Amino acid sequence: MGYKMTPEHRANISKGLKGKKQSPEHIEKNRLCHTGIKHTEEAKQKMRGRVWSYETRMNSTCENHHNWKGDKVKYRSLHKWVRKYSIQPSLCEICKFNPPYDISNISGKYTRKLSDWQWLCRSCHRLYDYIKNGKT
Ligand SMILES: [Zn+2]
Repeated sequence: MGYKMTPEHRANISKGLKGKKQSPEHIEKNRLCHTGIKHTEEAKQKMRGRVWSYETRMNSTCENHHNWKGDKVKYRSLHKWVRKYSIQPSLCEICKFNPPYDISNISGKYTRKLSDWQWLCRSCHRLYDYIKNGKT
């Protein structure tokens, strides 16, 4: 049980996102960004096999092609940092049932403290964000 990302897998992910449904604009940006990078059939298979969260997709895209600035960039690099240094548990930290896929910030302040982040499964993450953003 438990989903571990191998370095190889990470590399595959970071290489690209072709084959996903994206807006024409997005595809064009991706194309420009990924010029010269080819995907192996195996990598494509891997990419098809997973359901991607919005966040994961965004983390995997080329650094430069979004017009993101300031907080968003900070948020994204912070996410990367947390993913790199935190230890992914084998189970979601809320339901202790599903394997976790996403890193979620606990305080909403996006601090550079590992204790301020938790690994959640898809459904708990969605729920958690909904509660966090939705209402008081
Ligand atoms: Zn969960």
